[in-house]
Amino acid sequence: MGTFMFDDGPISLRHELRALMEEKLPPEWLGPFTADPEDKAMSDAFCRELAARGLLVPEWPAEFGGSDMTLDRGLVIREEMWSHSEPRGGQYYGPNWIGPAIMEFGTDEQRALHLSPIARGAVVWCQGFSEPDAGSDLAAMRTRAEPDGDGFRITGQKVWTSWAGWAEWCFLLAKVPTESDDARAGVTVFLIPMNRKGIEVRPIDGLPGPHHLNEVFFDGVRAERSEVLGRVAGGWDVVRAALSHERVGIARYARSDRMLSRVASHVAVDRPSTLRSDWMRARILNRVSRLVCRRTLAAQAESGSLEFEANAARLITVRADQFAADVTSDALGAAFFEDRSTAGAPFGGAVEFFWRYSQGATIASGTTEMLQLRLVSELKKGRRLSAAEEVADVGEAVTNLIGGVDRLPALRRAVDDPSSRQALRDAMTEMISGLDPRDGLDSAEQAAEVARRCGMAAAPLPIEAMLLARDGVPVAWAGPGGVLEHADLYDRWLLVGEEPLHAIYRAAPLGTRTGAFVVPEPDELTHAPAPGPADAPLALALQSGYILGALETSLDLATRYACERVQFGAPIITRQAVGFRLADVVAELYGIQSLLHYTLWRIDRAPHKALSDALALRWYAVDLARRSLRVAHQALGAIGLTYEHDHAMITAALQPRLRLPFSVGHTLDRVVDAVRVVGFASLFPPDGEPHAG
Ligand SMILES: Cc1cc2nc3c(=O)[nH]c(=O)nc-3n(C[C@H](O)[C@H](O)[C@H](O)COP(=O)(O)OP(=O)(O)OC[C@H]3O[C@@H](n4cnc5c(N)ncnc54)[C@H](O)[C@@H]3O)c2cc1C
Repeated sequence: MGTFMFDDGPISLRHELRALMEEKLPPEWLGPFTADPEDKAMSDAFCRELAARGLLVPEWPAEFGGSDMTLDRGLVIREEMWSHSEPRGGQYYGPNWIGPAIMEFGTDEQRALHLSPIARGAVVWCQGFSEPDAGSDLAAMRTRAEPDGDGFRITGQKVWTSWAGWAEWCFLLAKVPTESDDARAGVTVFLIPMNRKGIEVRPIDGLPGPHHLNEVFFDGVRAERSEVLGRVAGGWDVVRAALSHERVGIARYARSDRMLSRVASHVAVDRPSTLRSDWMRARILNRVSRLVCRRTLAAQAESGSLEFEANAARLITVRADQFAADVTSDALGAAFFEDRSTAGAPFGGAVEFFWRYSQGATIASGTTEMLQLRLVSELKKGRRLSAAEEVADVGEAVTNLIGGVDRLPALRRAVDDPSSRQALRDAMTEMISGLDPRDGLDSAEQAAEVARRCGMAAAPLPIEAMLLARDGVPVAWAGPGGVLEHADLYDRWLLVGEEPLHAIYRAAPLGTRTGAFVVPEPDELTHAPAPGPADAPLALALQSGYILGALETSLDLATRYACERVQFGAPIITRQAVGFRLADVVAELYGIQSLLHYTLWRIDRAPHKALSDALALRWYAVDLARRSLRVAHQALGAIGLTYEHDHAMITAALQPRLRLPFSVGHTLDRVVDAVRVVGFASLFPPDGEPHAG
């Protein structure tokens, strides 16, 4: 897996953009969405400036006016723009997805006509999709394109059309007559100038502020055949391809990152409080949001449109955005009401502005429910998370060694006969010999895959500790008092933690079934060699890999059951109360997987600074585990509670890893403490926080 998407670079480009914004835009400028035409003029001038520097459509091919820049540079530009209130204003549709759609589906004439003005920063486009009776159900649109000589006459109404009052062009959907019963048949994309006779725009006032919402009426508007993008009646495919780019094209997380950083002085980080916890959670969720967006864009750049990933990423992103807006608003207290019109408002009123705009995040460009519906349909088709090809071999070998996942054979054997773990331990030790996660990122990725595969089968082994073993002595992060899972499997343990204990504990007897292999008390303490700086964060990261694997199996069991179980005449997955929760879980699993890769990369690059990263990963994993196991149990009904069913076995077997070395709440407290010592890598680190390296 490529790692550029973890990086903040190229840093010099970030600096160039920040300097440019400082020079060209007023301090605390919140963009052009005001009633003042000066703001729009400023945005237009800024777009032209970006274009002149080759920064408006950086990733476009040079032949279309772009700079042939790599995706990483394009991402830096999107992040810097969005975090500074998107000074491109209404122009970002063009560079982000309308231009690429014209490149992909347009004729040579259309490319010649449209791409250059977008690349020069000289045109605003609007998107005419939604209608009064066609919102989520876009195919129900009524706007008609009746054949008229060589062309068409378009009649109908669009609504919520952002920037329609500014736009020179509209990316418009209308239906041509067709014999087909399919509601999507006939949908056609038209590229229509907004000054054409028969078009009327009426603004709608609301929470997002001026220019965001409009009605647009089309009264017998003439459209030429040459203004159809793609095939006549082939518009649905164009829209699908275009929107999968739009879904992850907006760097919402960048603004959240900056806002969370700016309100840091309003959050009492030195004492426990709900606000402090929320603020830290928002930062972690925002990190996940950034990772899934960047990862999806990188994957799409290689493989074309990836709906599953794009939908999962967007679900995570818009929710994180709204949470960040709530937390930053809470942090300000009554100062929240000092908006951009109040002289001396904190950050020029940016927090209130952010909060208002974020209210539409889960609605605009398709609601979260539509994302969930699409994720459910992928789950029904058997779609699951996939691992990187580079680790597939080691993963297969581990699954074979533990006897597969179905019926959790290794776990069931160990519950009946705890001593069977010793043979399994020996076989696994042999298999992983030579694999040291401290040997670089590739080795760490392989080790994480070993842990994940063990988790998928709830293998009864302290696999993380085994992977980290030094001279045959397993390395673990023990709970308070040295409580360890599977402590009886080894005579000696090397324990790590925030402050390494430099101690070896001796094993004691077994505990109960929900922690079948937890050993309550160490009975001997001796000195041991000091662990390295990567040991503690790796212990947590590999443990999260195990948890990820177990949650994947949990989701798979619940999904398969929900597809097969018929109640009230239909499979229960077709009920949104069941399906949507499963969709949320699969999206968040994509989140943990991305955060795990990132954390391994951080540990490899800056092990001394990576404890906050590893703790954040653990918090995300255990917090999700608590919720997702419950979702799966609920979907499974009573059968999932029986030990005959694999789900009850997984739930019980996972408890030690969810509670040791510390539970979810304690984990979050530790993240906050660790951040005070080593920082937390962010695009906009808060003032006074240690530099995360
Ligand atoms: C700030 C903003 C800017 C926008 N800009 C544009 C634009 O430029 N161009 C444009 O064309 N549109 C734009 N939109 C419109 C946007 O695409 C629609 O709002 C969105 O598609 C939802 O449609 P709707 O508002 O009619 O809600 P509805 O479709 O009426 O849905 C209402 C609620 O019901 C839920 N729902 C509907 N059907 C189902 C179902 N089958 N199962 C479960 N739940 C369901 C929805 O998820 C939602 O929660 C914008 C919207 C906003 C908020």
